Amino acid sequence: MVASAPHFGQGDGMNPVYARMGTTIFEAMSARARATGAINLGQGFPEAQGPADILDAAAKALVERSNQYPPMTGLPDLRQAVADHYAATQGLDLSPDEVIVTSGATEALAAALLALVSPGDEVILFQPLYDAYLPLVERAGGVPRLVRLSPPDWRITAGMLEAVWSPRTRLLLLNSPLNPAASIAGPAELAAIARFCVERDVTAICDEVWEELVFDGAAHRPLIAGPGMRDRTVKIGSAGKMFALTGWKVGWMCAAPGLARGLAKAHQFLTFTTPPNLQWGAAYGLSKGRAWFDAERAGFQRSRDRLAAGLRAAGYVTLPSAATYFLSIDLTASGIALDDVTFCDRIVDEAGVAAIPVSAFYAGDPVTNLVRLCFAKSDATIDAAIERLASFRSAL
Ligand code: PMP
Repeated sequence: MVASAPHFGQGDGMNPVYARMGTTIFEAMSARARATGAINLGQGFPEAQGPADILDAAAKALVERSNQYPPMTGLPDLRQAVADHYAATQGLDLSPDEVIVTSGATEALAAALLALVSPGDEVILFQPLYDAYLPLVERAGGVPRLVRLSPPDWRITAGMLEAVWSPRTRLLLLNSPLNPAASIAGPAELAAIARFCVERDVTAICDEVWEELVFDGAAHRPLIAGPGMRDRTVKIGSAGKMFALTGWKVGWMCAAPGLARGLAKAHQFLTFTTPPNLQWGAAYGLSKGRAWFDAERAGFQRSRDRLAAGLRAAGYVTLPSAATYFLSIDLTASGIALDDVTFCDRIVDEAGVAAIPVSAFYAGDPVTNLVRLCFAKSDATIDAAIERLASFRSAL
């Protein structure tokens, strides 16, 4: 008899990449909020039901249109709508053939990494990082090379990129606007990244799910528009974020034909398609025009300002929030001598408010003095959370 070594390290058959990872902090905090009845400002989802006409469009499509497999790369209506939207809002010249619809941005990230990473390839990632990046890169056989960003400006420099570059560097994964930092990569950073990618022959995967949630009149600048980047960038978007319908999990990835062919193959063997009625709903949403997006953005900005003002009045110092659904409390600047994990543990139990410790977005050497709160909530929910956090603050 041949004694076979266990295939995977952890005994229960789980691949070590996953065995090392816990349940995501978002899922864990939402579960605690549900169990305790805490106000959930942890996981990033809007409290509102979502735009009624977009929901109607999807509901109507469910009943009246096809529910069979749509084309693998997405419904033509949605691919065209995505290309038109980016032409109108970001000045891009994408053809619908360069748009592949996916089951959320998460599937687009998975497909892009599976398509573009070969075992041993190095992938530059920026911390803080969205939780899916690391397991996806590692499961694809990639070697993560982490760049650590820090508050308050979270700036990326050419020197940081060169410090992690090696001849095996093949990809860079950029998230801008950046969750949880709520910052936007500026023109100088984008120029430095583009120069680096071109000089070092690196392909960029750009997670731009927060592109429509930028505040104070800022414009979203896609890296794909940078010099030399048109053929070496995968641009990823999410209807869930754009339309405040996070459960929809409708996303897309856009890339020049040379890259798109590989992306489509990876997508083909992951989910193959995405529910057609939700694709029609997203296509309808994209046709709503600038005024609708402006109003949506203004609503979130008002909620951001309401939460920031309330926290300030309660004695908390917050970091600027230029984008996303998030705002962070700076514990150190607030004079609170607790780390982020302890603070989040205590407020969920003692104040009845769930939040996310920013250290959860670091694989190592974390920033430990920031706590992320989601402001995509009703005024009443924001006010109730502020009141609870104010009482907690004064009892410290
Ligand atoms: N990337 C980032 C940076 C995100 O914040 C999120 C959602 N929180 C996603 C990807 C996932 O998007 P989707 O729900 O469309 O899969």
